[in-house]
Amino acid sequence: MENRQQRELLEYRLLYAMCLMVHLFLCIMFFRLQQNLLFVFNIFSVIMYLFGTIFMRETKQVKVWIILAFTEVVAHAAMCNIIVGYGYGFSIYAIMVIPIMYYVGFFSDSLKRGIKYYNMMTISSSVIIMFSCLFTRGSNLIEVIPDRVAAKVFAVNVTFGMGFLIYASTLFIQAIKRASQDLHQKNEELNFYASYDALTKLRNRRSMREILQIYDQKDDAFCMVLGDIDDFKKINDTYGHNCGDIVLQEIATVITGVVDKQGVVCRWGGEEILILLSCEREDGVRITERIRKCVEGRSIHYEDLTVKVSMTFGFAFYDEAGDIEKLVALADDRLYIGKGNGKNQVVSETNKENKQY
Ligand code: GH3
Ligand code: MG
Ligand code: MG
Repeated sequence: MENRQQRELLEYRLLYAMCLMVHLFLCIMFFRLQQNLLFVFNIFSVIMYLFGTIFMRETKQVKVWIILAFTEVVAHAAMCNIIVGYGYGFSIYAIMVIPIMYYVGFFSDSLKRGIKYYNMMTISSSVIIMFSCLFTRGSNLIEVIPDRVAAKVFAVNVTFGMGFLIYASTLFIQAIKRASQDLHQKNEELNFYASYDALTKLRNRRSMREILQIYDQKDDAFCMVLGDIDDFKKINDTYGHNCGDIVLQEIATVITGVVDKQGVVCRWGGEEILILLSCEREDGVRITERIRKCVEGRSIHYEDLTVKVSMTFGFAFYDEAGDIEKLVALADDRLYIGKGNGKNQVVSETNKENKQY
């Protein structure tokens, strides 16, 4: 938001500086052509654009400056048409200011209202220009200006007018490009959060299920590990929910760090993490034990507290169950056994002794 306002301010100040240059030029021109009224008008225009270029930053309402400029451009074009004749092309300035007005309207808080408002302004300016052409003083080009000078004045007006149009078109192209970049970024974010958990940045359950399906269809060996933070409720109750969130984030970082490219990590539910390891049983148990040790050894800093947590893991190897659902259930059973056996451990087998839990 802040950036947008600063950018708009810069764009409008640049526009004012361009108008200042044009009016300085016109001042000299009208002075030499002895058009005193237009010379004086342009002196005031120069003062206005000079003030605007310098002080626009200080005022909050930049749009007021733009409307002021629009009024000045239309009034100037109409006066020139009436006094020296429409053939010099001063109407071009009133035309070139139209896209700039719509550009300003495009950034109105309410686009619909903005467009209605600017439609009204530009239509009334067209009517003013039309009448100024009709009420021109007798001739298309006043006689005091020689023909070759008239051609030069027309050429200058066309060139300046084109310059303003190029500027307005550039502003629009940049605005469209920025809008499409923003949209692309938002799209990427949405895609990310469709598959990843916002808090831990781990895969979510939905996206993990898709991966599990793929593993289910392959013949390669893999390990399924279900981990759960021990006494996590106590952390929330003692240090607050925010602290619990930080713990979850840190644990996610620790686990992904250990697993690295050897598998996939997902937030299965609240404080439950499901890990899929693409390796043989012995390697899987070893990696899981390393994860457990890393979690246990990690000091988590929250405000001025240092929190330590542990995790219990249920481990299952792919050939121990008929399908993925059963494998997850087996890992869950073993996790439950580990919780009953004193937590902070990896349970990779179900023997008679621990089956009672
Ligand atoms: P156990 O060792 O048996 O696993 O005990 P526990 O306290 O970890 O388990 P319990 O199921 O009793 O509590 C889990 C808690 O996790 C309860 C819930 O409020 C908390 N939790 C779940 N998701 C989040 C989360 O995203 N942020 C935080 N801060 N807490 C969460
Ligand atoms: Mg728990
Ligand atoms: Mg739990």
